[in-house]
Amino acid sequence: MRSHLLNDTTTEHYRRSVTEGVERVAAKLAATDRPFTGVTADDLAPRIDAIDLDRPLGDTTAVLDELEDVYLRDAVYFHHPRYLAHLNCPVVIPAVLGEAVLSAVNSSLDTWDQSAGGTLIERKLVDWTAARIGLGPAADGVFTSGGTQSNLQALLLAREETKTQDLGRLRVFASEVSHFSVQKSAKLLGLGPDAVVVVPVDHDKRMQTVALAHELERCAEAGLIPMAVVATAGTTDFGSIDPLPEIAGLCEQYGAWMHVDAAYGCGLLASLKYRHRIDGIERADSVTIDYHKSFFQPVSSSAVLVRDAATLRHATYHAEYLNPRRMVTERIPNQVDKSLQTTRRFDALKLWMTLRVMGADGIGALFDEVCDLAAEGWKLLAADPRFDVVVEPSLSTLVFRYVPAAVTDPAEIDRANLYARKALFASGDAVVAGTKVSGRHYLKFTLLNPETTTADITAVLDLIAGHAEQYLGESLDRAC
Ligand SMILES: *Cc1c(COP(=O)(O)O)cnc(C)c1O
Repeated sequence: MRSHLLNDTTTEHYRRSVTEGVERVAAKLAATDRPFTGVTADDLAPRIDAIDLDRPLGDTTAVLDELEDVYLRDAVYFHHPRYLAHLNCPVVIPAVLGEAVLSAVNSSLDTWDQSAGGTLIERKLVDWTAARIGLGPAADGVFTSGGTQSNLQALLLAREETKTQDLGRLRVFASEVSHFSVQKSAKLLGLGPDAVVVVPVDHDKRMQTVALAHELERCAEAGLIPMAVVATAGTTDFGSIDPLPEIAGLCEQYGAWMHVDAAYGCGLLASLKYRHRIDGIERADSVTIDYHKSFFQPVSSSAVLVRDAATLRHATYHAEYLNPRRMVTERIPNQVDKSLQTTRRFDALKLWMTLRVMGADGIGALFDEVCDLAAEGWKLLAADPRFDVVVEPSLSTLVFRYVPAAVTDPAEIDRANLYARKALFASGDAVVAGTKVSGRHYLKFTLLNPETTTADITAVLDLIAGHAEQYLGESLDRAC
């Protein structure tokens, strides 16, 4: 069994095992002609249930064969140009290499004595990101597991900065299309059930700042405390970007912490063409960045950035067994002092490898491509009488629905769109997402693959229309 431990005596086994795994995945990627096989949970469950975990196969090749059967064959492949559903990106090779390195060395970024140079690499990437945002000389931050955790940590700092014990008086303002992690965070932070004030959006799905000003005023008049405003730079559903400069002004006026959730829009930090769309982000007190969304990084790779490093002290606890207080005066850099996590992956290495091989411009050019593709897709949809498209994209998302001329019942149109999404998923020909707009079912393309073409978009729209028409035809038959 010791031959399975990675060490000085097993490097040949390591090399062979990992190479064999890489070969399998490479062969799979080369042969994948659809993003999905259409397998159902009921199809797959018996195959996984049948495996006796207490009877190991012992042999890597046999296990990879088995893995083909229970995972690789039916996985959802984000690199395929017709995977258009959620905020999942195809990943860049330098980052995948980083992933292989970081799990083999297995540094843990909580303390210097578990990571050494890893700590400094992470710090440099935090500084790089803060500089791209323009947060100023006192900025800092830390890598996190994802946008959800970054939002939670940012709101924790905002709560602590209010210096109030009376949590029931705290209010957080976020738009009606902000990410649900804002609500979850409020609950975890012990705020009251009414803590999150939902601000309406305009026609372009951007927070209405007149409404925000009104809500902040009401909050002040009621003797409540405006703890934070969460501005979303790239909403999950529409990619819409809240008006950051106006929101920054209101935050200053009312003394509220400004958090920018740029989990999706952060790709613009590297953009060569569209950086201006997030102007105003430099005025934030904290920013959420998901490199695993628009920097083409494997899950997980994320960070929370803050304007004032001192605010991170609200996440600091000292333990004798890990990071005793004396280490601060000894200037030993322990990232755990800034983090909600303890043991923590060296995810920063992936971004490091990416920047060192491709450079930020390389990433930005890829993200610009998908933004341009979305603009083309919007034109196609707007010109197509079969579809109704919601907002012109600020990033790379298109929300639309199939609207047959002959059908007027909105509930029937809902059902046709829901059916089309399901049928498409079952076919495996393409994967699209769905959401509700004003109570009605819509479909969504989140375009994060520069390999997707307008021809793919056209083909998938035809598939959707075909499935929806089939549904409506059968529904007519049923009615007769
Ligand atoms: C995806 C997303 C999040 C959550 O990020 P995770 O990495 O999935 O935890 C938060 N905010 C926005 C706007 C997002 O799109």
